[in-house]
Amino acid sequence: MRYSKSFIPTLREDPAEARKNPSHRLLLRGGYIRQVGAGIYEFLPLGLKVLRKVEGIVRQEMDRAGAQEVMLPALVPAELFKETGRWDLFGSTLFRLKDQKRNDYHLGPTHEEVITDLVRGVVRSYRQLPVNLYQIQWKYRDEARPRAGLLRCREFLMKDAYSFDATEEGALASYQTMRAAYDRIFQRVGVKYRVVAADSGAMGGNTSAEFQILAETGEDAIVVCPSCEYAANVEAAVAQRAPASGAGVAASGKRESDIATPNKKTIEEVAEFLKVPATQTVKAGVYLFGQATGAVPRVVVVFVRGDRRVNEVALSRELTATWLRPAEDEELSAAGLHGGYIGPRDLPPGVERVLVDREVADATEVVTGANKVGFHRQHVAMADAVATLGERAKAADVRAVGSGDPCPQCGAGLQEYKGIEGGHIFVLGTHYTGKMGAKFLDESGAEKLIVMGCYGIGVSRLVAATAEQCHDGDGLTWPMSIAPYQVMLSALVTTPEAVAAADGLYEALTARGVEVLFDDRDERPGVKFKDADLLGIPLRVTLGKKSLEQGKVEVKARTSKDVELVDIATAADDIAARVKAALG
Ligand SMILES: [Zn+2]
Repeated sequence: MRYSKSFIPTLREDPAEARKNPSHRLLLRGGYIRQVGAGIYEFLPLGLKVLRKVEGIVRQEMDRAGAQEVMLPALVPAELFKETGRWDLFGSTLFRLKDQKRNDYHLGPTHEEVITDLVRGVVRSYRQLPVNLYQIQWKYRDEARPRAGLLRCREFLMKDAYSFDATEEGALASYQTMRAAYDRIFQRVGVKYRVVAADSGAMGGNTSAEFQILAETGEDAIVVCPSCEYAANVEAAVAQRAPASGAGVAASGKRESDIATPNKKTIEEVAEFLKVPATQTVKAGVYLFGQATGAVPRVVVVFVRGDRRVNEVALSRELTATWLRPAEDEELSAAGLHGGYIGPRDLPPGVERVLVDREVADATEVVTGANKVGFHRQHVAMADAVATLGERAKAADVRAVGSGDPCPQCGAGLQEYKGIEGGHIFVLGTHYTGKMGAKFLDESGAEKLIVMGCYGIGVSRLVAATAEQCHDGDGLTWPMSIAPYQVMLSALVTTPEAVAAADGLYEALTARGVEVLFDDRDERPGVKFKDADLLGIPLRVTLGKKSLEQGKVEVKARTSKDVELVDIATAADDIAARVKAALG
């Protein structure tokens, strides 16, 4: 493609709405995407090329793993979601609409029901199993706050696959086949990633893993063991039952007492003011939760060691909550709580539930809030203080695992990373087939439920997640496998000989199957280099005055500082070989 004829509307300045995420900023600036509405994007020619390449890798590996491609509708009659209860469960994130006869529909956020309906209508016998069907299709979720460009959109491209097996063992085998296919997909895309144990959340199921793309801007926290293969989302990570922090500290024998801590609210402030380590403080988290849609919100206070975080997934599970969120300031006041000064003793009756993390449940010499503005309590024995709360209180494992915690498998110190979820695989079991009556006759003629698995990859999200990992201060640095073009060819001189040489090289590379963006624009070299860096095409080939005089062209990788001189006569073969090598 000649740049002079292309549609690449780059932006000179960083778009104001895209400061936070490099992928959002650079994809907009590089003319890859444009925003149409909140969480709704257009893919321009460069962006679509990257999207199609990711899609192509996904499709090849799914086909190779024996899955078959279908296309299910995005517009789905409400009856199917009503069968499984998800018409209500999805709440406000489901795009609902009515047709002219006032029938309910939704735009598909995921397709378990649709595919299960298809399969229950076709499969009668174990001879028709296993089967794995997938599609690559637009999905819709009405995110309250779409953000970060392609990372959290309301319309996004997904690959979703669903396996149907006769037995639990069969389903596990299908799951392992998909896991291996996903490894090949993420390796071919060329991103650094980790496969982590995941909580299966609202999807229903018990065997699941996430493919997390490592990026500092990632919203997911994951812990990885440096010495064994253990890796988990912190939401799902298991904390080894460490000895209570108080156990190492002999009870001082001092009486529990209030101490004035004016304006010291955070753990850091309190610990510094009272000259105790954060590990000898206990902090409170306050949440509202419900056990059914529409039920009156209830207040729960959670106590964890001062340097820990609350694991909201574990907390939800303990409370059998259908929803849970941190309380706002005015909700704290309404419950009689004083933010920054919350402790177990004299906790107001507005707090219906109290969960004490097991790590601090028996701590004997800790600082807590005093439930009075401007006061904390010192020399607190947690068990005594919590005993005053009666039936409201309970000990549980509700802290999030973090850096330094012992690996549950081998005990080595875990390391924490930020990640972006690029893929997610589950064994669903009979969750959906049971609700929807998807059955088959086994060898003995007995009727059984089909065992299901589901496997997602956010295709458009993977484009952004890769950009989130692959960029530098000057722009994008695409892996060769998904770059919109493989080579950026720039002619910096406009003499007839130079133009002829550049045209010749462009033709020769194209003839060898190399994808070239040929910068034939009448622009200064500085502008061309800047754009080449911004667009992030992996190889830059430059015809400059000096190199041409020696019969050479300059070849430079986007991620390297080194410039190599290559004979113009053999340049096409040389560059084609480099592209091939990079594709592996
Ligand atoms: Zn380990």
